[in-house]
Amino acid sequence: MRIVAKIGTSTLTNGTSCLAPPLLVDFARQTSELLDAGHQVLLVTSGAIALGREKLGFPQLPKDIPAKQMLAAIGQSRLMAVYDQIFGLYGRTVAQILLTRRDLERRRSYLNARNALIALVEQKVVPIVNENDTVATEEIRVGDNDNLSALVANLVDADLLILVTDQAGLYTADPRKESDAQLVSEVSTGEIPEELWHAAGGSDSRLGTGGMVTKLQAADLARRSGAACIIASGKEHDILLRLANGEKVGTYFTPVASSMESRKRYILSARRAPGVLKVDDGAVRALRRGASLLPIGMTEVSGTFGRGDTVRVCDPTGTEIARGIANYDSSDLVRIVRCPSDAIEAILGYHFGDEVIHHNNMVLL
Ligand code: GLU
Repeated sequence: MRIVAKIGTSTLTNGTSCLAPPLLVDFARQTSELLDAGHQVLLVTSGAIALGREKLGFPQLPKDIPAKQMLAAIGQSRLMAVYDQIFGLYGRTVAQILLTRRDLERRRSYLNARNALIALVEQKVVPIVNENDTVATEEIRVGDNDNLSALVANLVDADLLILVTDQAGLYTADPRKESDAQLVSEVSTGEIPEELWHAAGGSDSRLGTGGMVTKLQAADLARRSGAACIIASGKEHDILLRLANGEKVGTYFTPVASSMESRKRYILSARRAPGVLKVDDGAVRALRRGASLLPIGMTEVSGTFGRGDTVRVCDPTGTEIARGIANYDSSDLVRIVRCPSDAIEAILGYHFGDEVIHHNNMVLL
């Protein structure tokens, strides 16, 4: 299973204003056991700003963006040093990935980020993802790590998104204000019910930016991208292991689409697909069998497009048979038409993979 787990500031600091390493050690142990069991795990972590504040000794700072960016720059490197050390106890390697909304919206950077993350998890490295707060201005930021983690789950086609928080899950009302508030154990309706949005209310956590509303937004996005989502408490013993084993703890959101459907939607949602790749009969048969498109099967490239853009694939008669995300710019593809894949590097001087369009990034029509 491919799992994205989001750890919020309140969990990292155990509700204080300083980092609480024992909890992190416990998450590292659980993550390591998940990897041993054959799962792939990506962590989305908050805490850069909180750690920057702690490092500077909690100075009085203006509330403006440059102050936050400064704190994030100081705290992020510290945060990674801590993750590196703690995962090192279990012989695990971590990798830092900093993203903004813009990186996920632009097709080229989307594809680059996706390929890098998948390469990391396939090597059993644990990507530690955070928003790139130091450069993320209002227009390009996601703004909270709940939504960021759902975008990451979508990016890597995760099976499960776990939102680790300091509460047992989602309640029918604010449990701190209403004594008859009930824990919601499962949301399986197509749409998340209006009452739950209402009950999620606002955030009143002092340090993090997320509240239940952003968790619901994240759950909504994740389940539409084909991932199940669980909101559960980080204080529960072995929470990641138990959830990965299918135990019902916290609030479980069933997926409402398959990740394949969601990927197809993404491919077909391109505003325009100006590029056309004409392929030979052998390639048509191979694609129909589920193979990727290789340069050797291409006979003609037309239109101008970039790596990451959606292009049309046409058979020798010009009929469109598939659409997919191109791994190379049109100017590159023109140079490798009809070439064997092992010649790509020699011709272009670089290599984004053997495929012109990877099978997973293609929709047959
Ligand atoms: N990216 C922020 C940080 O690392 C946290 C955002 C959030 O908690 O949602 O400090």
